[in-house]
Amino acid sequence: MAQKRDYYEVLGVDRNASQDEIKKAYRKIAIKYHPDRNPGNAEAEEKFKEAAEAYGVLQDEEKRRQYDQFGFDGPQAGGFGGAGMDMSDIFSMFGDIFGGGGFGGFGGRSQGHTQARFRGSDLRLKVKLSLSEIQTGVTKKFKLRKDITCEHCHGTGAEGGSQPETCPTCHGSGVTVKTVRTMLGMMQTQAECPTCHGEGTVITHKCSACHGEGVVKGEEVVEIKIPAGVSQGMVVNVPGKGNAGKHNGVPGNIQVFIEEEPNDVFVRDGNDVIYNLLLDFPTAALGGEAKIPTIDNKTVTINIEPGTQPGKTLRLRGKGLPAVQGYGNGTGDLVVNISVFVPKTLTKEERKAIEDLRDSENFKGDHSTKQTIFQKFRNYFN
Ligand SMILES: [Zn+2]
Ligand SMILES: [Zn+2]
Repeated sequence: MAQKRDYYEVLGVDRNASQDEIKKAYRKIAIKYHPDRNPGNAEAEEKFKEAAEAYGVLQDEEKRRQYDQFGFDGPQAGGFGGAGMDMSDIFSMFGDIFGGGGFGGFGGRSQGHTQARFRGSDLRLKVKLSLSEIQTGVTKKFKLRKDITCEHCHGTGAEGGSQPETCPTCHGSGVTVKTVRTMLGMMQTQAECPTCHGEGTVITHKCSACHGEGVVKGEEVVEIKIPAGVSQGMVVNVPGKGNAGKHNGVPGNIQVFIEEEPNDVFVRDGNDVIYNLLLDFPTAALGGEAKIPTIDNKTVTINIEPGTQPGKTLRLRGKGLPAVQGYGNGTGDLVVNISVFVPKTLTKEERKAIEDLRDSENFKGDHSTKQTIFQKFRNYFN
């Protein structure tokens, strides 16, 4: 810290100035250098703070006497002002010099350091998954360009092992209090400190690598475990893997948006997976076997009973997709929807064979029997 200036010099008053003169001098300086009048002007803020500290001592008979006698190193531990002083002290002086009163509104503000921790922003990723990846769950690697902690300053933002210093504007509280004259008297509003943006500290010697931010752009390979059973539109949250927070703050998260690769073979229905089996007519009529592909790129052989009808559904239990942890009712099924293939082109011989079957009683569908509703009704009871 810079060498402290003499309190009388700071306020520009004589050593034997009256209390009234001191008050007037301080008021002039305070109004001129008030942080709300000089946003972003560090020099003005420093002057404001300096004047507040000087006035804090000189307006108090006892403290002034000690200062006159001992200088800055007064007999009371820690000397005057400095770190021990906070904004409510300064504003109680304002109450004094502006004669305002009405300085409520400090309720709930914690005294001392309430340092804000910066939180890094979240990163968003999309990932396309096949059904087999969804069935088993998968770990995906991503090479991400993101904010990472600056190695040069270990995230502090301060150069060469120096430490961030207590903010001179807000004295570490992270907030400033604005005083407004209204019809009801002096009112206060609290706002984030413009100097330190709520952090309570400022960096005098900024890190040359990150310019005081504590984070730099970098690359990181992140492995993300996608649980089994996820579905289109779900978001997997990976805490703490997003952008690093400024000044060793809290890192953001990664949000992974799930997309399903389109699949020509299967249709997903919740945790079930539907497979449409186009069965040849002889197997449907005579019975036999059919090969069914599964999500994990294998096949299972199923039995087809003689006389299997189109529209019949078979369930291969547990061959569907698992439930995402904590959701749904366990693993789904592979549902086989059977339809029967009807040839579109026929050879002469095939045509002859089918024509021979047409008039056979067993090959007659409902439409060819020309039954009346009454006949159907009667047949039902026979
Ligand atoms: Zn740095
Ligand atoms: Zn501040």
